[in-house]
Amino acid sequence: MQILNYINGELLAPKSGNFLDNYEPATGKVYGTIPDSDSEDIDLAVQAAKNAFPNWANCGNETRAEWLFKIAEGIQKHFQEFAAAESRDNGKPITLAQKVDIPRAISNFEFYAKAITQYHSSSHSMEGKAINYTLRQAMGVVGCISPWNLPLYLFSWKIAPALAAGNTVVAKPSEITPATAFLLSKVCIEIGLPPGVLNIVHGSGGSTGTAIVSHPNIKAISFTGGTATGEKIASIAAPKFKKLSLELGGKNPNIIFADCDYEKMLTTTVLSSFSNQGQICLCGSRIFVERSIYEKFKKDFVDRVSLLVPGDPSDSATKMGAVVSKSHMEKILSYIEIAKNEGGTILTGGKQRFVGGRCENGWFVEPTVIEGLSYDCRTNQEEIFGPVVTIMPFDTEEEVLKFANSTRYGLAAILWTNNLLRTHRLAELLECGILWVNCWLVRDLRTPFGGVKDSGVGREGGFEALDFFTEPKNVCIYFGNN
Ligand code: NDP
Repeated sequence: MQILNYINGELLAPKSGNFLDNYEPATGKVYGTIPDSDSEDIDLAVQAAKNAFPNWANCGNETRAEWLFKIAEGIQKHFQEFAAAESRDNGKPITLAQKVDIPRAISNFEFYAKAITQYHSSSHSMEGKAINYTLRQAMGVVGCISPWNLPLYLFSWKIAPALAAGNTVVAKPSEITPATAFLLSKVCIEIGLPPGVLNIVHGSGGSTGTAIVSHPNIKAISFTGGTATGEKIASIAAPKFKKLSLELGGKNPNIIFADCDYEKMLTTTVLSSFSNQGQICLCGSRIFVERSIYEKFKKDFVDRVSLLVPGDPSDSATKMGAVVSKSHMEKILSYIEIAKNEGGTILTGGKQRFVGGRCENGWFVEPTVIEGLSYDCRTNQEEIFGPVVTIMPFDTEEEVLKFANSTRYGLAAILWTNNLLRTHRLAELLECGILWVNCWLVRDLRTPFGGVKDSGVGREGGFEALDFFTEPKNVCIYFGNN
C-alpha cells in the first residue's frame, strides 16, 4: 500500500519525494510506504484549506451536515476494507475493528452531522436596557493530530466536529497507523468533497506534526496522544496564542468493592484491562480490590486472563492481537522488568509471545497480571499503555481514594459497588474526567470527554467540541433611554 497525502482534493507525493516504511505489527514486516512530509507539504495544505474556508464556512449547517453524512456513507460502503486495513496496520483483532473502530468512526461523522443542526448559542438580556447575543463562528484553518491506538476512531472524533463547525482542516494521523486515514481521503475524493476542506498530511510527529503546530495560519490544535508530546505541543502553540485541546495519557484506577455484582465485574474487568492489547487510554491499569474478596478475585481473574492467548489479528477467532510496534513492545517488556525489580510477582504472562505461521516475527505480549507492588512505585505511577495490569488489596474507602488519586494523571476511573452513598461520595472525590460505575466504555457521544491533571486540557464530545472549534463573539445592542 503506497500511501499519499490528500491535499486540495488530490492524492500527492510529498514535495521532498521521501517516504517512510509502514510495518504490519503481526508480522513485523514492512508492507507499504507513507509520505515523510515536511513544512512544504503543510504550507500547501494550509493554503488549500485557507482557500476553501470562506465557501465551507458560509455554505450553511445543513449543507455541511449533508457532506458529513456522505462521508459516513462512504466509509460504510467500504466497511470491510476499512476494518481489514485497521487490523493490519495496528495489530488489533479484525473483530474489534469491525465491532468498535469502524462503526464508531461512522458514528462520529453522523453524530456531528446531526449535532451541528442542533447547536445553539446564548443570549443575555439586561432588562430594559440592552440585549447580548453570542455568535459562534468558525475559526478558519484548524489542525488535528491523533494517535495510533484507535486510528480512524480518534482521527474522525476531531475532524467531524471541526468540519461541522465550518472550519477547514489540516490533519495528521500517526505515522504508525496511516492506512485508514488514507482510505478516508479516497472516500472524500469518491464523494466529491470540495477540495481543500479536509487535507490529510502523513509523516512523523517531529516533522509533519511540528509543522502543523507551529504554522501561523492554523488557529487551533486538537491533539490526542502522550503527555510528553502534549507538553511539547503546548510549548510551541501557547506563545502563538493558538486554541489548544489536549487529550493526553492516563493511569486509570479500577476500584472493586466486595458488594459489587461479581460476575459482571469480572467479565468487564478482563475487557477494561486488555481490550486492544491494553492500548486504550481508558483501560483500567491499576486494579484495587477490597481485601475480603481479594484472594477470590485474584484466582478468578488470573484464570480468565490465562485464557486470552494472543494470535493472528486477521483470524476472526482472535481476541488479542499484536502490540503496535517493536519499540512499543520493548517499552512494555521493560516495564515488566521494572515491576519485577520493584518486588512485583507476575501471576500470569510477563513475556513476549511467539505466535507461529505468518506471525512468527510479530510483536505480541502476553496479557500480564502483577501483584505485590506499592501504590506509589513506578509501575503504578507511569503509563505503560499495554497488556499489563497490577492488582492490590485495600481496606477502606479513604485508603483506596488515596491510591487512586496518587498519580499525575486523571483521565478515567472505574468503580464497582452497589452502595449508592459510596458511589456519590467517590464520584465527587475521584480525580478524573470520566467515571464509569458498574460498567466500562459505555459511551454517549453527547457527554464531555477528557481528563484532569496531566491527562489533558479541555474536553471533546457533544457541544464541547463545537465550542472548541468555534470562536464566541458577544454582540451587545443597547436600546435603553440613557
Ligand atoms: P504520541 O504523543 O507519541 O503521538 C500522538 C500523535 O502526535 C501522533 O500523530 C504523533 O505522530 C504526533 N506527534 C508526535 N510528536 C509530535 C510533535 N512534537 N508535534 C506534533 N505532533 C507530534 O502518542 P502515541 O501515538 O504514542 O499514543 C499513545 C498515547 O496517547 C498514550 O499516552 C495514550 O494515553 C494517549 N491517548 C490519549 C487519549 C485521550 O483521549 N486522552 C486517547 C488515546 C490515546 P507520530 O506517531 O507520527 O510520531
